[in-house]
Amino acid sequence: MELLDGKLVSKKTKDELKAEVSLLKEKGITPRLAVIMVGNDSASQIYVRNKNKACEYIGIEFEEYLLPEETKQDELLSLIDKLNNKKEVNGILLQSPIPRHLDINEAFRRISPEKDVDGFNPINVGKLVLGQDTFISCTPFGIMKILEDYNIEIEGKNAVVIGRSNIVGKPMSQCLLNKNATVTICHSKTRDLSSITKNADILVAAIGKPCFVTEDMIKPGAVVIDVGINRMEDGKIKGDVDFENVKDKVSYITPVPGGVGPMTIAMLMTNVVKATKNQNR
Ligand code: NAD
Repeated sequence: MELLDGKLVSKKTKDELKAEVSLLKEKGITPRLAVIMVGNDSASQIYVRNKNKACEYIGIEFEEYLLPEETKQDELLSLIDKLNNKKEVNGILLQSPIPRHLDINEAFRRISPEKDVDGFNPINVGKLVLGQDTFISCTPFGIMKILEDYNIEIEGKNAVVIGRSNIVGKPMSQCLLNKNATVTICHSKTRDLSSITKNADILVAAIGKPCFVTEDMIKPGAVVIDVGINRMEDGKIKGDVDFENVKDKVSYITPVPGGVGPMTIAMLMTNVVKATKNQNR
């Protein structure tokens, strides 16, 4: 079994971006990310802080908009419009969750596709489905980067994705399909899950249930990607895969923490640099 070290790939990616950004700066171009947060979600505050830190490391300018809990939909949309029109801003990110009285889908639609570094605008999702160049949702994009970095073959493989969320499961399945895997998507209504996962050469678990995937669900030699981040009562983070139980049966596996998690921010940074280059072509 070999560990897929997301921390390492993330560091490498960020160092490459740092070099790229310093070349852009020599041409007078400085990438800039704008982050919008509505309300006081404590997990979001940590995520935004980490995004800020990654920007600082790479040399990306960062601006943060903290809107109060009682923000109205049209106020949120008019901030997005303002940032869409602000030339110095290359990427816009709306941190989820946002308060329930707001329509997040309308907000995602409003972010200009050229600045949609999270890849949530339906235009960018559509381009992913059509196999066109686009911004890919950062977590699946990061998983593809890990697979590429470790030279893991995808074409012709049976890939099974457990989970069909808009931010992980669906774009993940599409990325694997675009690389010519034979893809099966499983979800909470799937019957006899293990009969499907047992055929997976590549298994991606994005469920949100700690230690859900066990040894009996795995094909010997499979590549296992664990997206889950589950905070346990003792404060420890566990993945969706029972790591200790499966580790001797797999060829490659991402640890939690230190696997998929660190890649998400690295790919956000990749998307910001890409947006900047596109806008300055
Ligand atoms: P979600 O709750 O939106 O989706 C979970 C999916 O799991 C659903 O599609 C559901 O159908 C499926 N599911 C639930 N129970 C199931 C069962 N018994 N059998 C089969 N499928 C089942 O979650 P999400 O946003 O996709 O996130 C999934 C996990 O990944 C969470 O733990 C989340 O914290 C983590 N996550 C990690 C990152 C990262 O950067 N590493 C990013 C996003 C999400």
